[in-house]
Amino acid sequence: MPPKQRKIAIMGFRSVGKSSLTIQFVDGQFVESYDPTVENTFTKRIKVRGQEYELKLVDTAGQDEYDIFPSAIAMDTHGYLLVYSTTSAKSYEVVQVIYEKLIDMTGKASVPIALVGNKTDLHLERVIPFEEGKKLADSWKVPFLEASAKENESAARVFQTLIQVIEEADGTGSQE
Ligand code: GDP
Ligand code: MG
Repeated sequence: MPPKQRKIAIMGFRSVGKSSLTIQFVDGQFVESYDPTVENTFTKRIKVRGQEYELKLVDTAGQDEYDIFPSAIAMDTHGYLLVYSTTSAKSYEVVQVIYEKLIDMTGKASVPIALVGNKTDLHLERVIPFEEGKKLADSWKVPFLEASAKENESAARVFQTLIQVIEEADGTGSQE
């Protein structure tokens, strides 16, 4: 069976760890400093539940509450990773604005999304409790995960979860 090609966009406020999570997943390493302004696309092969996937990961340069949703991103994108930092209340607000714009933009009631609260290793700097993120994801009816881009296993789990959401959407015919 040929690999399924799936495109994923990683979105969220600046500095939440979008690039770090992506690079940890793709390369298995934590990069301390990565150009925050560029948008990069990475590819990664992965097997989930016996199915091979060829993923295109669009690591966006980040959004704020004033940005118009980048419509080019929505082109043939199968799923969205919405990331905030557990150390930033601002990023938790911004991820909600991004979500609203994403739903408006796609005109669909349900879009394959997973919500991620990153930087859990920074215990002392945490300002968003687990329950807050969980509550938000529940209101959107999407999976919620906390992660640390320092841990490979945690980054991989995030992407695997989103792939499962994309698969479920495929199954119900709301994709393609
Ligand atoms: P982006 O702007 O969302 O792509 O954020 P980056 O991936 O560039 O990360 C911004 C800063 O936060 C960098 O200095 C990263 O090293 C750091 N960072 C990202 N993720 C984590 C994490 O899970 N834990 C810690 N301690 N630092 C992180
Ligand atoms: Mg980045």
